[in-house]
Amino acid sequence: MRDIATPTRTKEILKKYGFSFKKSLGQNFLIDLNILSKIVAAAELTKEKGVLEIGPGIGALTEQLSRQAGQVVAIEIDQRLLPILKDTLSSYPHTEVIHGDVLKMDVKLLIKEKFKEQKKVSVVANLPYYVTSAILMKLLEERLPLENIVVMVQKEVAERISASPGSKAYGALTVLAQFYAEAEIITVVPHSVFIPQPNVDSAVLRLRIRERPAVEVVSEAIFYRVVKASFAQRRKTLSNNLMNNLFGKDKKEKMLQVLKEAGIDPARRGETLSIEEFARLSNIIAHAFE
Ligand code: SAM
Repeated sequence: MRDIATPTRTKEILKKYGFSFKKSLGQNFLIDLNILSKIVAAAELTKEKGVLEIGPGIGALTEQLSRQAGQVVAIEIDQRLLPILKDTLSSYPHTEVIHGDVLKMDVKLLIKEKFKEQKKVSVVANLPYYVTSAILMKLLEERLPLENIVVMVQKEVAERISASPGSKAYGALTVLAQFYAEAEIITVVPHSVFIPQPNVDSAVLRLRIRERPAVEVVSEAIFYRVVKASFAQRRKTLSNNLMNNLFGKDKKEKMLQVLKEAGIDPARRGETLSIEEFARLSNIIAHAFE
């Protein structure tokens, strides 16, 4: 069987179906088998495992996943790709393509219905860059029963998600992602592995989902709000951000009291706080407003 992910075969398929790329859907297809094998290896698949793929394109990654996993379900938004996928994936009866927008789907229900026999499920994808953060936050916040998530993303996003406190890349996305998962960059990827080539650098990111979140919080909703407010304006101090984006100007005293109780200097910036400090702060805020 000839692999899809070579320049020749991909061009043949695109020509056969007269397919034109839609930039608005983040369509950059993989044409490098070496990168694909790194992605698949990072997901640690077995025949007992299931895979949910987001955005199969013409099936370059889907076919490699289908060779390793017990079952593969792929969600594709672009209707024009469905007849192509039917053709390119015809040798894999345990692989199913669903037409839809992952952001609008009940993914928890889908996993429950589709992966009845697989105890462990991974999400593996070469994500459309225009919605990377939204897709990752949805997968994490909905507490899906996943073992890991292995995704090709913009290099900058991979750096943000795997950043440490105090670094330039550390932000709300870092804290929220690391709350649920251990993040690791598997490899940085050159433009040349895609067709068409994107303007940005890419990287493969692995998120190993934690059994329990990294820190205990009284309310996840309040934790999110505190984290998001703390990074609302990066150049401002924590106290300014919390006052402008959470407490309101008339509650300055209360806010300073909360920070004092948490043992956090109000002059610090959000990017210097560890996940533990965000948890401590949000737990005190949760109790203060009970
Ligand atoms: N997996 C293929 C590959 O690696 O060659 C294609 C990856 S391409 C970067 C992203 C794919 O996601 C495209 O096929 C695009 O149509 C699809 N897509 C974009 N937005 C989507 C959404 N909201 N839900 C599902 N699929 C989406």
